[in-house]
Amino acid sequence: MTRPLRLSTLFLRTLREDPADAELPGHKLLVRAGYVRRAAPGVYSWLPLGLRVLRKVEAVVREEMDAIGGQELSFPALLPREPYEATGRWTEYGPNLFRLQDRKGVDMLLGPTHEEMFTLAVKDMFSSYKELPLTLYQIQTKYRDEARPRAGLLRGREFIMKDSYSFDVDDSGLEAAYQRHREAYVRIFDRLGFDYVVVHADSGAMGGSASEEFLAVSPVGEDTFVRCEASGYAANVEAVVVPQAPDVDEATVAATPAAHVEDTPDSPTIATLVAQADALHPRADGRSWTAADTLKNVLVLLTHPDGRTEPLAIGLPGDREVDAKRLEAQVAPATWRPFEADDFAAYPMLAKGYIGPEVLGTDSEQRGGSGIRYLLDPSVARGSAWVTGADAHGRHVFDLVHGRDFTADGVIQAGAIREGDPSPDGAGTLTLARGIEMGHIFQLGRKYAEALDLKVLDENGKLVTVTMGSYGVGVSRAVAAVAEATHDEVGLLWPRELAPADVHVVATGRDPEVFAHAERLVQDLAAAGLEVIHDDRPKVSPGVKFKDSELLGVPTVVVVGKGLADGVIEIKDRLSGTRREVAVERAVGEVLAEVRGSAPAGD
Ligand code: ATP
Ligand code: MG
Repeated sequence: MTRPLRLSTLFLRTLREDPADAELPGHKLLVRAGYVRRAAPGVYSWLPLGLRVLRKVEAVVREEMDAIGGQELSFPALLPREPYEATGRWTEYGPNLFRLQDRKGVDMLLGPTHEEMFTLAVKDMFSSYKELPLTLYQIQTKYRDEARPRAGLLRGREFIMKDSYSFDVDDSGLEAAYQRHREAYVRIFDRLGFDYVVVHADSGAMGGSASEEFLAVSPVGEDTFVRCEASGYAANVEAVVVPQAPDVDEATVAATPAAHVEDTPDSPTIATLVAQADALHPRADGRSWTAADTLKNVLVLLTHPDGRTEPLAIGLPGDREVDAKRLEAQVAPATWRPFEADDFAAYPMLAKGYIGPEVLGTDSEQRGGSGIRYLLDPSVARGSAWVTGADAHGRHVFDLVHGRDFTADGVIQAGAIREGDPSPDGAGTLTLARGIEMGHIFQLGRKYAEALDLKVLDENGKLVTVTMGSYGVGVSRAVAAVAEATHDEVGLLWPRELAPADVHVVATGRDPEVFAHAERLVQDLAAAGLEVIHDDRPKVSPGVKFKDSELLGVPTVVVVGKGLADGVIEIKDRLSGTRREVAVERAVGEVLAEVRGSAPAGD
């Protein structure tokens, strides 16, 4: 039997006003309802009710991890530098890593994720294929000095993650471990009550199903994902690989006039250029110029993890923007920012607003250009003709053909993906939506095992490098994501499996008999196995108590009040708002039915 929580003594203070430092509605409610408190930007304390919800999320995750044979352990958050040095992540993590020194001046870090520690532990203890496959996991506090800690628990600098790692001798073993995790994640997120999608997450060399994310569909999500109804293709925008536009046929290229530079006064933007292009230089085919006919060149400055900076130019059609997150994914572990006045000043050959391919590219230095690496959007076909900057103020070049008149250093997948774009699998068009990344499953392969020399003897007595998977669930983020997904105007509204209690009993009025009866009911409910919150505060008005019950968001509320004189109590459903009176002697049975009725099957 779990002890009932009594509001007369519970360490709780609900707030009527929204906290000043909270942005999102669900987060405001978590603070107002006394579940969490901010200790520092991106760092939160868990108060009793919040901790209960957190523990329930952990329990769901733990059960499903145990069910696939995961073994739980726990590594420290305070870690030595060496293993992270060996894998390159001490540097690669850049400013996201909390680094510190002990009293002897020895470098340490607060773990952002624990691939290194798990790899070394297995290396320490296991040495034969007979001991594999192996799946280890922990539910543990992580630290990342996020650039934009926002939305409270959704993006903390201290947060709780379940991270697991699989160890196998061969690729088929890894594939099986990955599938087991995938299935466990489906069960976890079904139980947590999310509307979620599983999307491709990796745009790198591995591709395919080697990396997937579980996104909670939410307008407040920081991730954008695409879906193709026709094929079922779904991917994080970061992972969408836009196919290279096919080459323009030779006859068309041959018919394209030689490139010619024209005066286009005061046209530093695509809009100002297009607005005057028809009047100044009408197209031969009679149609109007559009932004899609122009090639714009966007300059950004990359900062590599070691602090080195590098300029980068991206050429893309004038009607398409660079997508910040796609670019971020492409240049990682480097970070980027737009070119600023000082950066332009360092490259006098760049005429801001009129930059063309002539001065871009690593080979441009020979002709007095910038030597800046130049990458093109895949929609810029070889043989296609463009209007673009002529590298002089007020001048543009027309009929500049890719492959004939200019080349680039390569292609970059950084252009924004738009609603209605063709699906990369050729099956239809894409729709866009936003989501919160709740989980990530990833076939790491041998990268960490190689870096840290994790080998085992195979059947033939030969040493082979172990192959690994890594799998994360945002446990504290899940609490916030559920709060965002399920609240209403008046308060939180927990799914049964996560609610801090099964039932919230409110005793109203001043009649001692009512309070005594409520207390007996609470004892009976607790004895029947329910977790109960009892609002037994003697001097608080019914209005305040009802408001608090709505704010706290326990799915079933029982009111013991005036009706008792007529032998009835009231059962309210927090979700639907429906209420019904039941005879006092049937109260326990009715509440149990209510709670169990909507409890998940098999419970
Ligand atoms: P994001 O893109 O949101 O920063 P990530 O790709 O860095 O996430 P992983 O390194 O894959 O995330 O971590 C595994 C899981 O941990 C994520 O799926 C997410 O649920 C959670 N997580 C990651 N960063 C945070 C954070 N700052 N606060 C809370 N949860 C987080
Ligand atoms: Mg991150």
